This record gives sequence, C-alpha cells and structure tokens, in this order.
Amino acid sequence: MERAFTVGKDVMIRTSERRDFKRCQQRWAWGWRQGLVPKGPPANALWFGIGIHLALAEWYKGPGLKRGRHPADTWEEYVNGEIAYIRTQKYDGADYSDDEFVEALDLGSAMLKGYMGTYGRDDSWSIIRAEQPFEIQFPRQKVKGEPFLFAGTFDLVYRDLADDDRIKLAEHKSYKQIQTNHLPLDDQTIGYAAAANIMLVMQKVLKRGESIEGITYNILRKALPDSRPKNSDGLYLNKNGSVSKQQPAPYFHREFIERTPAEYTHAFRHMDAEVEQMELLRSREISPTKNPTRDCSWDCAFFDMCQLHERGEDWREYRDAMFKVQDPYADHRYSGKSA
Ligand code: SF4
Repeated sequence: MERAFTVGKDVMIRTSERRDFKRCQQRWAWGWRQGLVPKGPPANALWFGIGIHLALAEWYKGPGLKRGRHPADTWEEYVNGEIAYIRTQKYDGADYSDDEFVEALDLGSAMLKGYMGTYGRDDSWSIIRAEQPFEIQFPRQKVKGEPFLFAGTFDLVYRDLADDDRIKLAEHKSYKQIQTNHLPLDDQTIGYAAAANIMLVMQKVLKRGESIEGITYNILRKALPDSRPKNSDGLYLNKNGSVSKQQPAPYFHREFIERTPAEYTHAFRHMDAEVEQMELLRSREISPTKNPTRDCSWDCAFFDMCQLHERGEDWREYRDAMFKVQDPYADHRYSGKSA
C-alpha cells in the first residue's frame, strides 16, 4: 500500500499541505507523501467549508457589481447532492449516517440567509476575479535552476469602491468562534494575496501601479440565529420585552489587514524553506517529527493510527483497513507531470 507522492520533476506546494506540514510533519508524511485519506466520508469541517466557499463563489461571480445565485440556494443544492451521494456509499461495509449532513443543511442555510441580511449586495465590492485557481512558479533559493510550484485557489479579488477604489483580496472563513488575533501573521492567506498579485499583474488585469493592498477576512460564525425578538438597536429581548443580558456573539465579522510587499516576499521565502524541509523528508535524509497536542483527538484523522505507531503495534494493518490512497496533487496535475 505504501506509495510516495510527488508531482514529478517539479516540486509543488499547496496551502492545505503547508497547513498540515506546519501542524505536524508526520501528519504531512502520511497525508501528502503516502496520500492516505480516511475511507469514511469527508470530515465535517472540511466539506462544510467547501460548501460555504462554493455558495459565496456563485454569489460573488462578478464581474463588477454583478451578482449570481443566492448563496443559500447553492448551499442547499450542494448539501442535498452530498446527502444523495452518502446514501449510495458504504464505508467499511456499513451504511454511513447522513445525520450530520441533514443538520448542516439548516445551519448553513441560516448562516447564508443571515449573511445576505447583514451585507446585502455588497454594493461597494466590484469583483475583479472570484474563485480563481492558480499555479505560480518560483525559483528555489538553494537549488539553482529548479523551481517550485505554488498551487491553490484564491476566493476573491475586488475593488473596494467605498475605500478609495483600493484592490483587496477577500478570504471567506467559517469558524465556530470568531477569533482574529492570529490573522496578522497568517502567512497562508498572505501567500494567496502574493500569488494573486503576481497573476493579475502578469495578465494585465491590474494596471501599472496597482496591487492588492491587503486582505479582508470575511468570517461567518457557524451558529443558528437567535430566534428571540430584537429591539430597534438590534438587541435581543426577553419574553417580558426587557433587553436580555445574554446577547449572542456576532454572527459575522469582517476585518481588513493591509499587507506590504515585504510580507509577500516573506510568504514565498517561508514556502521555499518549507519545500526544502519537505525535500529532505522525501529523500529520507531526515525523519518526520510529531507534534502531539491536545487538539490531535479532533483535528487529526490519524489520531488512532498515531497511537498504534507510538506503541510499536501493528499500525500498518490499521492503516490498510482504515485508509485509502489518493493522489493529493490530483487537482493540480496537468500533462507531463506524474506521481
Ligand atoms: S495525531 Fe497528532 S502527533 Fe499524531 S500525526 Fe496527528 S497531528 Fe501528528
């Protein structure tokens, strides 16, 4: 079953791969080197986020102020499709329950209707590009003549008509809790902005002197709306009409962070350093480290296998029973490149 994935003569790096690599090298080795994917249905947070992105991509289709289909409609079609698919599948010989998909149908739908109620048509967002895949080639610092490819898809580039026509990248995020203190050093999204900037300059979509000046984090909280009545200030009321002391946390949050050319340069330097370390792991010059944290039990698909691996038990038998092998770079392969 063991297989070692790479992209062929060029080295590719993807944003989700960088996230896994920085979280834990062993997780990266299992997921991105061996291509191990759980045999069961996709993890909730993953498919939920994909659906929200699809829905917003359809809505902010552009160009300019043109808008597409209501995001709640796209969401419902997406989740119903997922449910229909899940019902045809058997995982490890057993039918998989579609309960969490059915529950998520209402949750995502309510979130997107609330989003539309909050932001309406976003009349100051003039769309330049939405949901754009990219592959950008960079020279490697220490391996002369060999580039690496940075591949991904950015959410949205728009001209903000309410902010001096500045060009911004928007990234949609759906979080259980809205937290933003990590955003100033969020080099993954900075990587998207840097790549989008290069691509749009090369395509002459951005004019001379124009650049993506920063990132708008467009955050939706994963929560059903509060059904209590509100007063004219938007505060939720008790049954007796008084203002409740229990006000929900915000459901939506947008935060714009300016980015500098230095940050874009650093984003590529970080990628180059990560590629270098990945290559050392691929060639087995170094062994992957593990980064066990209290989050492993919920944020890592390899949690059970990792424990067997640590105890020196037969983790390979577990691997072959519970995981399938899938090419992690499949979305970005093109002719001439092979595993
Ligand atoms: S369970 Fe934790 S330590 Fe083990 S591979 Fe996953 S992230 Fe790494």
